[in-house]
Amino acid sequence: MNQDKIKNVAELIRQADAVLVGAGSGMSSAAGYNHYHCNEMFKKYFKDFEQTYGIRNLFQGFYYVYSKPEQQWGFYSRYITFMETSPAGQPYRDLYECLKGKEYFILTTNCDIQIPKVFPENRICQFQGDFRYFQCSQPCHDQIYENYAMIQDMLDSMNDNQEIPSEKIPRCPKCGWKMVPWVQDNTFLQGEYWKTAYQQYKNFVDTYKNKKLLLLELGVGDMTPSVIKLPFWDMAYNFSDTFLVTVNLDAGSSPEHLNGKCLTINEDLLYFLQKLRGQIQ
Ligand SMILES: [Zn+2]
Repeated sequence: MNQDKIKNVAELIRQADAVLVGAGSGMSSAAGYNHYHCNEMFKKYFKDFEQTYGIRNLFQGFYYVYSKPEQQWGFYSRYITFMETSPAGQPYRDLYECLKGKEYFILTTNCDIQIPKVFPENRICQFQGDFRYFQCSQPCHDQIYENYAMIQDMLDSMNDNQEIPSEKIPRCPKCGWKMVPWVQDNTFLQGEYWKTAYQQYKNFVDTYKNKKLLLLELGVGDMTPSVIKLPFWDMAYNFSDTFLVTVNLDAGSSPEHLNGKCLTINEDLLYFLQKLRGQIQ
């Protein structure tokens, strides 16, 4: 049954003038990088943190209330280097193969550095940031900083209690306040870099809104519907030649007002994209 739907999606991609992808956390889960559950990957790379703090998954590790910043940065440095060094997951590589040769753009809520490993920066908008960068926590100025070297330095000096030395805690070069990963929270910096990517997304929509535009929503949950889900519904409803495909592991239903302009597929994204790639190539 889903086989027929996947064939249908391959045909929709072939016929489209352009494809706008909305990628959510389900994509990274399908790649094996699940940030919300304890899986083999977590046990392999974060066992010591589990033993010390009782952290059961990456999400808990990120939001855990550490008693000292040296401990918090111990976790951050391990977490960020894990994301930086993990290879691009199979669903992302399959998606790339499905889209290459097409006009496409990717809007994502993921910050886990998977998408920029596969897709060029001028075709992606990471709406909620990217763990490769730090920002001032105030923020006092509009700049984000590549953190790879700082993270390596922290890891090299981490002690057996998973703490880093105080002097390695990153500080804003302008005001001296602590820096934080450039990801969505209440001081998230939507500055020049963010605005440029967001404008690229808007320009893409403007270019294709009166053409045959396919919206491909992949693994988008219900946590932040205002970023992908609701705008995609609006576009599918308002643009005359736009069609929406949503693929998710959990059972979902198409909104009624999109009758005839939407296809909902309940499927594992690893399987879906592998089969889709086979159909397209
Ligand atoms: Zn500052």
